[in-house]
Amino acid sequence: MNIILLGPPGAGKGTQAQRLVEKHGMRQLSTGDMLRAAVSAGTPTGLEAKSVMARGELVSDDLVSALIGDELDAMAPGSGAIFDGYPRTASQAHSLDVILEARGRTLDHVIELDVNEDALVERITGRFTCAACGKGYHDVFERPRVDGTCDKCGGHEFKRRPDDNANTVRTRMAEYRAKTAPILPIYEARGIVARVDGMADMDAVTAAIEAVLAR
Ligand code: AMP
Repeated sequence: MNIILLGPPGAGKGTQAQRLVEKHGMRQLSTGDMLRAAVSAGTPTGLEAKSVMARGELVSDDLVSALIGDELDAMAPGSGAIFDGYPRTASQAHSLDVILEARGRTLDHVIELDVNEDALVERITGRFTCAACGKGYHDVFERPRVDGTCDKCGGHEFKRRPDDNANTVRTRMAEYRAKTAPILPIYEARGIVARVDGMADMDAVTAAIEAVLAR
């Protein structure tokens, strides 16, 4: 199964993708995570992306589509893919069709996480992750059970994304509205879009996504 999780920054795409990975053994393909890894490693891709990401703008379509193609090539053909943060433009949506077709894959569902944008800035600016295992937390909504210790792996180091600040978040939202939301009709025309209430609590969102996958 191949699915896209679509929604503005802070909608919960990463959290829900992690849950699907744990439950179904699907693979999360997050272009944001791939780009952050490239920035940390100082690769040419990372050098090209770093300042664009810091501003909250979108990096080039060709660059992210190449990353997605490479990741899919490294996966077992039968394993499911969750596209998280990709595609983000009409051109990327077209590339994804070409990339999937070339690998004998089809797109089963596009799940749109429907959220109230006003709540997103608070969600985003409070979030942090375990530096060792990547588990996500939030200053208000999901603190570790023991302060300073990761529930999942016991790690003690946490990190925050440099682009999770109020200014950059506003640019990221504007990019979503201008370039990403307009790709929904492409998938609506194919009858594969499902809308899920992304403001519900996390378990309810997971249950709603599971119901879509079971259709
Ligand atoms: P994310 O982790 O999905 O919020 O992505 C973080 C940043 O990486 C975005 O604000 C963009 O600068 C860049 N990025 C991630 N995915 C894409 C994509 N599909 N197209 C263009 N830029 C992307």
